[in-house]
Amino acid sequence: MGVPLNGSASLRKMRRAMDAPRHSDSRPEWLGLTRTELAEHLVRQGIPGGHALRLFGHLHRRLEAPDACTAMSPRQRERFLETTAPTHCETTEVHPTDDGTEKLVFTLRDARRVEGVIIPEGPRSTFCVSSQVGCAMACAFCATARLGLERALTPGEVLAQIYAARVRCEAVGRPLRNVVFMGMGEPLHHYEVTRRVLDILTDPTGFCLGAPRLTVSTVGLAPRIAQLGRDFEGRIQLAVSLNAGTEATRRALMPITERHGLADLRAAIAAYPYPRNRYVLIEYVLLGGLTDTPAELQALAGFVRGLPAMVNLIPWNPFEGAPADLHPPAPEAIDAAFAALRAMGVPVKVRLPRGRRAVAACGQLARITPTAEVA
Ligand code: SAH
Repeated sequence: MGVPLNGSASLRKMRRAMDAPRHSDSRPEWLGLTRTELAEHLVRQGIPGGHALRLFGHLHRRLEAPDACTAMSPRQRERFLETTAPTHCETTEVHPTDDGTEKLVFTLRDARRVEGVIIPEGPRSTFCVSSQVGCAMACAFCATARLGLERALTPGEVLAQIYAARVRCEAVGRPLRNVVFMGMGEPLHHYEVTRRVLDILTDPTGFCLGAPRLTVSTVGLAPRIAQLGRDFEGRIQLAVSLNAGTEATRRALMPITERHGLADLRAAIAAYPYPRNRYVLIEYVLLGGLTDTPAELQALAGFVRGLPAMVNLIPWNPFEGAPADLHPPAPEAIDAAFAALRAMGVPVKVRLPRGRRAVAACGQLARITPTAEVA
């Protein structure tokens, strides 16, 4: 087997990035405060906490600025604006494609950029949001990994992407109904950011998106899968990027495997407190000759046996600068993998590549301009 990556060198690199200090601002961004935190903040500023409910509605349901909250006196509003910070997240590029997906590029306060993808699904839309600028996980097959981790996003910056998408989706009459944390970054790395975003999105007085409409996709940070399960009682849709059946292949492709092996990962997935009829989404990137082999697929079937799982096969999307020994699967290998898994009793779907022309497909989010089109 061609091993595309030196596992321990990239693990060291990943460790350094994971120890990097968190982005911080002394004034909290008003967009990133949960309703409870908003009330606490108001009280600290000598403003009645009772205003938090109204204010939260203006900010997160109506997408207005704090000034719109006329329930607060002009002095109170002024105080609030002095003690909190706005979020800078501007939609600076829009790349549409024939299949209706739309890649958005957002520019942040420090001129760094992240990307998100709007995916129309019938009368509604799904938005794929970025959780970090770059990523520390160093997966060999992913374009975002090549950027390394530039920094965490603030909760406000994650929400601002979602709200920008929400406005666009409303405007074309295909309201935003699902948010998937499958853009740039590892959403369970800076877990506190993701937790806050989920808390705010599911708040009934805000956007009020049902927890099952929120999918958090992870490389498999086992302890944090457990924490996500506890914090939201299993109601957030869990997705795990497994991408290989055997430990050896997964290690070669995903250095995080050295820290959290397949046994730990499987235990965390099994212990997630799924509500009735819910399941984990197992993402599995098909790489020609590497993860589409009978041995890997058999191991994958073994991994999911006994788990409430749905496997999502993702044919690998190439990108400029990808390791030379990685290849997309042959078209017949996709069908063969699907059939083999079905035959082994594994619930499976194939995720068709969408948005490739805008370099917006899975694992292609790395601020590559669409002129550098591949595939
Ligand atoms: N870090 C999280 C969130 C990113 S989700 C995670 O890994 O789950 C992005 C998904 O696309 C993951 O399932 C990943 O395995 C997959 N992916 C990454 N690069 C890809 C590529 N080049 N082609 C197809 N899928 C890819």
